[in-house]
Amino acid sequence: MSSDPQNSRLPVLAVVVPCYNESQALPHTLPVLLEILNSLHQLQLASEHSYILCVDDGSKDDTWQVIEKFHAINPRVKGIALAHNRGHQYALLAGLMTVRGHCEAAVTIDADLQDDPNAIIEMMHKFREGKEIIYGVRSSRQSDTAFKRNTAHAFYSFQKAMGLETVYDHADYRLMSNRAIDLLSEYGESNMFLRGIVPLIGLENDIVTYERKQRVAGVSKYPLTKMLSFSIDGITSFSAQPMRWIFITGLVIFLLTILVGLYVLVSHFFIHHTSPGWTSLMLSIWGLGSLILMAIGIVGEYIGKIFTEVKNRPRFAVKDKLWD
Ligand code: UDP
Ligand code: MG
Repeated sequence: MSSDPQNSRLPVLAVVVPCYNESQALPHTLPVLLEILNSLHQLQLASEHSYILCVDDGSKDDTWQVIEKFHAINPRVKGIALAHNRGHQYALLAGLMTVRGHCEAAVTIDADLQDDPNAIIEMMHKFREGKEIIYGVRSSRQSDTAFKRNTAHAFYSFQKAMGLETVYDHADYRLMSNRAIDLLSEYGESNMFLRGIVPLIGLENDIVTYERKQRVAGVSKYPLTKMLSFSIDGITSFSAQPMRWIFITGLVIFLLTILVGLYVLVSHFFIHHTSPGWTSLMLSIWGLGSLILMAIGIVGEYIGKIFTEVKNRPRFAVKDKLWD
């Protein structure tokens, strides 16, 4: 393994599990994940020091007590509790930043076992072959309702149209090497949309496909309203494209204004049936309307520049160094 200094040592894997009101799901999920860690060790894919980190995202039920109970029985189940509910993305980020430097690789997986945990074994095979980011991709969404499936697909297509590159049908089930987590930590933006940022990191990557299942227990914390705001967040933190569309709309209307202008002037001078004031009104509405739209678009281009500057993203990432 390239990132492991002692080739003989097995890599430590951290499994990061965001939990919001998951006291019903965790008693099903944690034993399954612990079993996966055992199998990984038996298969000589991960060290026996591999562990699970549960991130309690300000739950209102007794999620934290459940985590404490598991930790008391088996210290390989670790936990952090956020002071208040910050949402899935920040729970993941908090978990990744906690395990950073304390593992060779980390897998993020939801607490409801919808993402098949057996895929972690394949992810670890690919990690051992030198891949540093491995995306879990859903091979089918039969277990989701038709509504959830269609809205989710519309969400991916819309993002793509808006210039945001994400991995199709990949949520936040992925493996990242410690180096990838280090590079991720350099993104200081406060609107965290991991599915957009992780592909920006670069490094060698691959995908693993799996079947998405039903939730083991509890209910979804992602109703349509949250999905919509998540989608808008994703687009607005990655793309200034909508502002460019304003300029293009203005330009198209300006070109139409030339045709409308011709029609209005021909009507005015040759047909003589126009009401007084109509010609000048038509010309002003079309002409000024398109100029205003184009002006907003130009201002938007500058705001787009400010938007990329203030995010202060890393401009490059060094992967390897031969220096001494
Ligand atoms: N989650 C979280 N904070 C939130 C909402 C959700 O940490 O504010 C966690 C939740 O516990 C689960 C994961 O994010 O582990 C995905 O949530 P859920 O399964 O409810 O979403 P869905 O799969 O229905 O899209
Ligand atoms: Mg779920």
